[in-house]
Amino acid sequence: MEWHAEPMHICFYPFLSAASKYVEESGVTLEDLISSAVFERARLRGKERIIEAIKGGEVRKPAIISNAQAEMELLSYPFARILVSCIGDDYLIRRYALSEAKAAHEKILAGSSSDIIYELSEEFDIRVDFFRLPQEQEQEQVHMPFVDYLRFAANLRDKRWKLVNRGLENGRVKLRKSEFVRIIQEAIHERIKNDLPLDVPADICEAISRYTGDIKTELEEKRKKFGDAGFELGSVVKDPSCFPPCISFILGNLKEGVNVPHSARFAGTAFLLNIGLTEDEIIETYKNSPDFDEERTRYQVEHIAGDKGSVRYTAPSCGTMRTYGNCVGKDEVCEKVSHPLSYYKRKLKLERKSKKEQQDKSKSGEKEQ
Ligand code: SF4
Repeated sequence: MEWHAEPMHICFYPFLSAASKYVEESGVTLEDLISSAVFERARLRGKERIIEAIKGGEVRKPAIISNAQAEMELLSYPFARILVSCIGDDYLIRRYALSEAKAAHEKILAGSSSDIIYELSEEFDIRVDFFRLPQEQEQEQVHMPFVDYLRFAANLRDKRWKLVNRGLENGRVKLRKSEFVRIIQEAIHERIKNDLPLDVPADICEAISRYTGDIKTELEEKRKKFGDAGFELGSVVKDPSCFPPCISFILGNLKEGVNVPHSARFAGTAFLLNIGLTEDEIIETYKNSPDFDEERTRYQVEHIAGDKGSVRYTAPSCGTMRTYGNCVGKDEVCEKVSHPLSYYKRKLKLERKSKKEQQDKSKSGEKEQ
């Protein structure tokens, strides 16, 4: 179809093979892209794509009003991939891939035409059939082969995605159109993530270091805020070095974008609520999850916090953590406690005590001098 190669269309889906083909045939060389003044806008936008991913977890889709603007938007994507590859940080790769996939998902849902859904089904080799349900004029249903469904839904943890909870007919799974778009997001995410990092020669990385520098700074700030160095969240300063091994493991996996089972999510959320993090701060820790859905996460966090008329849950005990396989990395403090919250309190006390001892030691040393 002619519109496949329209830059004003494909610039929103730059991971499509039609988009790579367009860039290839445009005659723009790698040398042009990394150094020609004509493409500075594309380079800046490429850098911006990654910074948006780090900061907000989603790459913004700008309003495109001309072919020239669309071409810059399109070219910014291969440049962003080069930047991410030069930095070579696994966390950045996952976050960037997920942010591009989420942005595409939002764009598809916001569009009025189903053409892009057909196009993407073809792109990912999924043989789909669309049905309009007679009683629900607005609702379209999609039937897709169950093998493709299993391929792309494997990382979706919510029980509604389990094959046993879906209608299955003649080897085909029934989905609402919006659910199918969510499956497409998974396919996009896999493609972008699996293609990174590219093998970029060191001299090219050197030539574009003025763009990678800003990204590294942003990444560092994000790490400082939510990474190992400290959970400085709002006015509450928590000390993650005192978290029990099980909770550090869960939070580390969430941060790295690894899919975490429900029981572990529940334990992590209840623990953080109990030590005083706000619901917004907790939702932030889930933002890298492959199946992150802000509305759903908020609902679940509010439920555990007791905002939904239910009781406020406390974090599960060590016994329950063991039952669900979430007791990971036991250390000597674990031997003295039966609850992750007791571990945290005990460890905080020990830390304070050892800090005080150190201060006293250095004070007496000063006096002796
Ligand atoms: S013993 Fe308790 S605190 Fe320690 S890792 Fe296991 S569940 Fe966590």
